[in-house]
This record gives sequence, C-alpha cells and structure tokens, in this order.
Amino acid sequence: MRWIEPSTIEEVQTCLAQHVPIIGGGTWLLQDGHSPQAVCDLTAWAGILGIKRDEQNWTLGPNITLNAWQQALGVNHPISQILSLMGSPAFRRVATVIGVIANPQPVADLYPLLRLLQSSVRYIDTTHVDIQNDVLDWPESAQERAIVGVKVPEIPKDSRVYFRKYAKGRMTRPLINFTVIMTPQGSHWKITFMTCGLSPWPLQGSACGTLREVDQAMRQWVLDREGVNRFYQALILNMWQDIYQQWWNENNRGIAL
Ligand SMILES: Cc1cc2nc3c(=O)[nH]c(=O)nc-3n(C[C@H](O)[C@H](O)[C@H](O)COP(=O)(O)OP(=O)(O)OC[C@H]3O[C@@H](n4cnc5c(N)ncnc54)[C@H](O)[C@@H]3O)c2cc1C
Repeated sequence: MRWIEPSTIEEVQTCLAQHVPIIGGGTWLLQDGHSPQAVCDLTAWAGILGIKRDEQNWTLGPNITLNAWQQALGVNHPISQILSLMGSPAFRRVATVIGVIANPQPVADLYPLLRLLQSSVRYIDTTHVDIQNDVLDWPESAQERAIVGVKVPEIPKDSRVYFRKYAKGRMTRPLINFTVIMTPQGSHWKITFMTCGLSPWPLQGSACGTLREVDQAMRQWVLDREGVNRFYQALILNMWQDIYQQWWNENNRGIAL
C-alpha cells in the first residue's frame, strides 16, 4: 500500500482526483475488505491546526484523536462524556474526530451534538483552489473532499446536554442514539434534539414550552415518525423518559415527578 502524506493543497487534490482514500486514524483499514493500493494520510497536514480553543469555539485538525480532544475538554465536559462512550480506550487513541465526521453512518455518536451545535468543516475539493468552509451536514456531498479542519462552537453556558445510546456490545457501533440540548428561556425551555437509528439519516427536531409541554411535544414527535422500526421508537421514548427524569431531578430537587 502506497502511503501518501501530502503537504500542499495540490497534492491532496491529486489524491482526490485519483480516488485515493483519505484516512484519519485509519481504523477503517482494519476492517475486512478495505485494502486500497494507496491512502492519503492527512494527519501530516495537522501541524497547521492541532487543537485550538477560544471563548466560543474549538478548532481541530485532522490528527486530533478522540482521546486527545477528550483530554483537552476535561472529564466533565458533555462532549468528553460522549467520547468516553465510543469504542474502547485503544480505539479512541487512534480514531480521529475528523475521521468520525467524515465517515457518515446512519448512527454515529459524535455527529448529532456537533450538528446541533452548528459545527462547520474546512475542506479541500477538486474544483476550488482554496480551502472551503461549510456547515457539517450528512449525507455528505456527492463530491469527494478532504476535511482538514472542524470548528465546534462551545456549548452555551446555561444549556444542558443529554446523550443516550444503545449498542449491541460495549465496543461495537451504536444501533440507536439520542442527543438533546436544553436551554432555559425565561420560564420556558427550548430543546433541540437528534435521533439516529430511526431512519437512514439522523432526524432532527425541536420544541419549546414548559417542562410538561416539552415532554408532550417530544413524545408526540417520536410517535409521529412514520415507517420507523417500532422497537427502536420505543427505545428512544425510553431514553427520553430517562433524560426527562434526570432533568426534572436537576431542576426540582425533592419534588416528585
Ligand atoms: C472498533 C470500532 C468501534 C467503533 N465504535 C464506535 C462508537 O462507539 N460510536 C461511533 O459513533 N462510532 C464508532 N465507530 C465508528 C468510527 O467512529 C468511525 O469508523 C471513524 O471513522 C473512525 O475514525 P478514523 O480516524 O479511524 O477514520 P478512518 O478509518 O481513517 O476513516 C474512516 C472514513 O472516513 C474517511 N476520512 C477519514 N478522514 C478523512 C478526512 N480528513 N477527509 C475526508 N475523509 C476522511 C475515510 O476515507 C474513511 O472512509 C467504531 C469503529 C470501530 C472500528
């Protein structure tokens, strides 16, 4: 296998034009049936970016592993808690954040929160001479591109993030997951959420109102999804009940639900 470590935009474009797979951590190569003649390793590109943090955003280069970001975020950060549920410690030391978001799958644990936060990617394609910028979105664009950076807005201070996942085993890919951001608005709450696993691509929804109104709206949203696996639908409702209980306990200590 030819290992290409590009250092210019033109070299990356040549790889894209020749359909040479771009890799991050390369865990994809360990899976059956994946042995391309050449790969384009973007982690050499990373010297430019690494991990940067300002008051509003995290900016990560293609060499940043799940473990490296987790260390930088700190153990109590909600994103860190989601990362800690992905694969094994060994996997998290190899797999990159950009590898996860460049690899659109029906169910991925990190993508929903990054999307709800309106993250954006910097990428190289074959039609532009400069690095381009776009909001993070799946399914990926039909055009091949090499992602060289991701910008993730920090979670607003008064918002809370809740995440639940269901996988067959601890180390395997998730089957469904559910991510919720809750933000107080006076006496009301605004929630935005995303479910993965109910449909080929993640589904996004939102609701606003009192605690009980939001609870009802959320349940109705799940029940209104048509053509979805009923068992998974019930699991999402169950996850929501668990989140709602936690949320209630955090806001109404000692008062029964
Ligand atoms: C053992 C194991 C456990 C896993 N557990 C979980 C889990 O719990 N939760 C979860 O959500 N996911 C899980 N996954 C899926 C995993 O998050 C993705 O496969 C992820 O892509 C791995 O990151 P990587 O850096 O190794 O990517 P790679 O293997 O390097 O690449 C994966 C794909 O992304 C493309 N790609 C990578 N980097 C770039 C780039 N910079 N630009 C353009 N395309 C690029 C590659 O071409 C390839 O198609 C698991 C995977 C494995 C193998």
